[in-house]
Amino acid sequence: VHALEQNQLALYYQPLICAQSNLVTGMEALLRWHHPERGIIPPTIFIPIAEDLGMMGKVGNWVLEQACQDAMKWPSPVRVAVNVSAAQFHTRTLDLDVSLALGKSGLSGERLELEITESVLLDDDDRVLRAIDNVQDMGVSVAIDDFGTGFSSLSYLHKYPLDKIKIDRSFVVNLPKSNHSLSIVRTIVSLARSMGMSTTAEGIETREQHSLLRQEGCEQLQGYLFSKPVPACETVQLIGTLNSSREAA
Ligand code: C2E
Ligand code: MG
Ligand code: MG
Repeated sequence: VHALEQNQLALYYQPLICAQSNLVTGMEALLRWHHPERGIIPPTIFIPIAEDLGMMGKVGNWVLEQACQDAMKWPSPVRVAVNVSAAQFHTRTLDLDVSLALGKSGLSGERLELEITESVLLDDDDRVLRAIDNVQDMGVSVAIDDFGTGFSSLSYLHKYPLDKIKIDRSFVVNLPKSNHSLSIVRTIVSLARSMGMSTTAEGIETREQHSLLRQEGCEQLQGYLFSKPVPACETVQLIGTLNSSREAA
C-alpha cells in the first residue's frame, strides 16, 4: 500500500514493432513492484489488490505521468502505451489526468496511447464514452487490450470509436500449429480493418509466429521474440539496438 510513497514501483517497457518496417513504433509501460523482501511482484498479482483497496486511481495516475516523462527521452516517432484500469475511469478524471500528464511532460497527445480492457467498456456508462472522446480530441489513441478474452460482447465496438485492437497472446501462443487460432486471428484482423481500426499481436515468441502474423496483416507486433520488458533506464539503448538490427529480422 505504501509502495508508491516508498518508491518501490517502477515502470518497465516492452517495444511494439511495426510489421512493415520492423522499426520500433511504440513502447508499452508495464508496472513492477520491487518488494523489499519478496523481490519483484508481477502486476497480475498486485493490481487486482490495489484496485480492491481503491489505490489504483492514484497508482494509475503515477504510471501515466511517469510514462509521459519517460517517452520524452525517446526519438519522436516512438509512442508510449499506458494500461488504464477501470478504477481510473471511475474517479471521473481520466481525461483531466491525461491532459495534466501531457502538459507536465510536454509530450504531444499523438505520442500517447491508452490500453483499456473490455470490462471498462462493458460498464455501459456515458462517462466512459465521454472520457474516451475527450482524450481522442487531444490526439491520444485508445486501444482495446486482451481482445477476445473478456465477455466479448461485440456491441461495444458500435458504441466506442476505438483506434486499435490488441490480439490476446492466447490466440498467438498456438500458432502456427492451431488452425482454430489462425481463424480467430484472421477474423479479428478483418473485423478491425473493416471498422477502420489497426491491430497489434501480443506475445510473439517465435519467428514462425512473426512471419505468419505479418502475413495475416497485423500492423504491429509485440513479444519476447523482439524484447522482454526492460527497465526505463535501458529503453533508449534498446530502441537504438532494435532499429539498427532491423534488417536481420
Ligand atoms: P498486458 O497489458 O496484456 O501486457 C502484456 C503482458 O504479457 C505483460 O505481462 C508482458 O510482460 C507479457 N508478455 C509480453 N510478451 C510476451 C511473450 O512473448 N510471452 C509471454 N509469455 N508473455 C509476454 P506483465 O508485465 O506481467 O503484465 C500483465 C498485465 O498487468 C498486463 O497485461 C496489464 O493488463 C497489467 N498491467 C501492467 N502494468 C499495468 C499498469 O500500469 N496499469 C494497469 N491498469 N495494468 C497494468
Ligand atoms: Mg497492455
Ligand atoms: Mg494484453
